[in-house]
Amino acid sequence: MFYRYLKVEPVCQTCGHDLDRYPSDDGPAYFTVLIVGHLVIVPFLILCAPLIFKAPLAILVPTALVAVGAITLVALPIIKGAVVGLLYALDINRADAHLHTADAPD
Ligand SMILES: [Zn+2]
Repeated sequence: MFYRYLKVEPVCQTCGHDLDRYPSDDGPAYFTVLIVGHLVIVPFLILCAPLIFKAPLAILVPTALVAVGAITLVALPIIKGAVVGLLYALDINRADAHLHTADAPD
């Protein structure tokens, strides 16, 4: 589905379907932050609170940043694929961009 890390193939390699018509925009980033922030970081903080408050910051901060960064980078293409799949299932494509009223002038 992707020809680079987050670049969606314009045409499906298997069935020839036009994938370029599904604009995922900021959806994958939003859902990634939502999922990683709420379903990964919060349970980690709750489960590891006794360890976290005893660990030296010089070890804790780099470890946490690398772990959260790695989880985010792994989750992002999966979530982007899910968002494109959802747009396909709901038949929402670039032709429906006029329905997005947030960018319309007043
Ligand atoms: Zn296909």
